[in-house]
Amino acid sequence: MPHFSNRPPSPDGERALPLRRTPPTGQLRAVITSPDLLGCNTHFFGGHTVPCETPECEACLKGIPWRWHGYLAAIQAQTHAHFIFEFTAQAGDTFREYFQLHGTLRGCIFQAERMHHRPNGRVILQVKPGDIAKLNIPKPPDLEACLRIIWHCPAKTHDHNSRKNGHEQIQLTTHEKLLANRIGNQTPTQKAPPSDEFLPTSKRT
Ligand SMILES: [Zn+2]
Repeated sequence: MPHFSNRPPSPDGERALPLRRTPPTGQLRAVITSPDLLGCNTHFFGGHTVPCETPECEACLKGIPWRWHGYLAAIQAQTHAHFIFEFTAQAGDTFREYFQLHGTLRGCIFQAERMHHRPNGRVILQVKPGDIAKLNIPKPPDLEACLRIIWHCPAKTHDHNSRKNGHEQIQLTTHEKLLANRIGNQTPTQKAPPSDEFLPTSKRT
């Protein structure tokens, strides 16, 4: 017996919202739905903006310079499309100032355009508070989860079998290395015999 429904199934985790930057021409006008911005050092590597994943970052190892980018979710004024806005540190300062003044970015109306309407022109950002009661904006997405989807980083979930590999394993590896390093550093000063499990097999007695 079919079970019909007038709603699509609830998404498994966050949906991927499209990523948008300030357009070379015209203006981008939107209302912010995120309470705060999220920033990350990034590289332009392999034709894409990718997150810097120190201490094991392929782009860093290849000497590619990094650049901070900020992200927040917003609803476009004309289309009501929910998207992730990517901006540079300079625009980030404007959003930080707004946050300090109002305690949240949610409900902030912003307009972004490029100076002289050049593709890489400096971003001119204007911000003003909107009436949150009248704006009726949707709840903000999990920014970090959205960025993981955009960057094809596996999700930071613990209970889904399909998400056990990738990033979680990387974090685990890093944590184990840190632990091993810490134990390794303690050994000479404390003169304690190192635990067998952290020694390579060849050094075991
Ligand atoms: Zn890096």
